[in-house]
Amino acid sequence: MSKTDKRARSGAGKPAVRLHAGPPKFGVEELCELVDLWRFPPKQKREICAAIRRAPGPMGPHLFRYYGPTPGKVAQAEAAFREAIGVKYALAVNSCTSALICALKALGIGAGDEVIVPAYTFFATASAVAVANAVPVIVEVDESLCLDPEAAEKAVTKRTKAIIPVHMRGAPAAMDAILDVARRHSLAVIEDVAQACGGSFRGQRLGSLGTFGCFSFDAYKIIASGEGGFVTTDDEWLYTRAQSWHDTAACWRPDRYARERREGELFCGENYRMSELQGAVALAQIRKLDRLTRATQRCHRRIAAALELPKGCKMRQVPDPQGDTGICLIIFLPDAEMAKKAAAAAKAEGVPAGGIYDQTVRDWHLYCHWDHILERKPVSPDGLPWSAIPAAEQPRYSRDMCPRTLDLLSRSLHVAVGAHYTDEECDAIAAVLNRVLVGCVGK
Ligand SMILES: *Cc1c(COP(=O)(O)O)cnc(C)c1O
Repeated sequence: MSKTDKRARSGAGKPAVRLHAGPPKFGVEELCELVDLWRFPPKQKREICAAIRRAPGPMGPHLFRYYGPTPGKVAQAEAAFREAIGVKYALAVNSCTSALICALKALGIGAGDEVIVPAYTFFATASAVAVANAVPVIVEVDESLCLDPEAAEKAVTKRTKAIIPVHMRGAPAAMDAILDVARRHSLAVIEDVAQACGGSFRGQRLGSLGTFGCFSFDAYKIIASGEGGFVTTDDEWLYTRAQSWHDTAACWRPDRYARERREGELFCGENYRMSELQGAVALAQIRKLDRLTRATQRCHRRIAAALELPKGCKMRQVPDPQGDTGICLIIFLPDAEMAKKAAAAAKAEGVPAGGIYDQTVRDWHLYCHWDHILERKPVSPDGLPWSAIPAAEQPRYSRDMCPRTLDLLSRSLHVAVGAHYTDEECDAIAAVLNRVLVGCVGK
């Protein structure tokens, strides 16, 4: 045996191969593609890319949330979000749908359980329940256009495990009454805050009142990172389980390979992790939240204060108007026909107005279009989630099961409110609405 062979076998001696570091995986080309999203003219784009090329540091960014330089952007976004919402734990995930599933899974909700959801919400709320193998029970909204606490209480059965109030169109649901129902029936409350990030109820930020808060950072929400979401809670154990479910599972605990500290910490999960790309955008957006909310509320209040509603018209009844994010004004008109006419007339004058529900238009925000649930469509032949409950005891579904919800939404005039509106623009919007309402409804 030669000397070299001996060295290789024993593992001793100097390594024969020394690999150099190579270019960063995420480098100038990728950053230039990001810059391209702003659609700069070619000359400016070249200048920016040249500046990026001159940037110090040979490594390039690390886009995985774990193992990188600490604190990473996702970890910083989580810290900022804990602070913003006023909770002990915030977990970044890749969507609100994922956030809802994390919350349900953390609570141990599954086959044979029921979860109460409102008839007016984005389909994801109900879908998440079914994905977690529980049966969604659909109930009416009240004049806040959020879950009606009385309807929720009537829907409670021996199988009910949780209620999901959804803070729709920026405004808080009646959280005091909903928390009271939950307490009396020992139910978890999962707040769906996808449309009301920055809102509050009696001084507490939405997402900090229930067992869990679930947020969306998808491109259309109040603050956004393209796709993304957060789960918030004050409960350490539930946070641990949500964190486990979100990373396939418990693979990136502080001590990765440790045995479980308590039964229920280790189980098979999915991958809902947020990347550092989204984390960076989310962090910048969270820092804007307070300013954005105050500016939107100011515009909302200015328009609302100048409105003179004719008889038969009524503002949406927000349980805590102080906590409304103010992203829209909703006025109930006497009937659907008038609401449609008013929306068209206001829109023609430049006001960002519209209706909410039109029987002839498919819309995933209304339960009557949730064919997947109304027709009990399972993903696999096992028939779950419905097959876990005897047919005679399953909740009944029909397209007209929530007539109050359909009536309120069909009579709604929706006006979007931006944080950037000037006083003159707010006054002009109010003037148009006053004129249009009198025109459509009479004095
Ligand atoms: C958008 C939305 C969701 C889903 O959020 P994603 O981040 O897109 O998964 C859930 N609930 C409500 C009320 C929403 O508006």
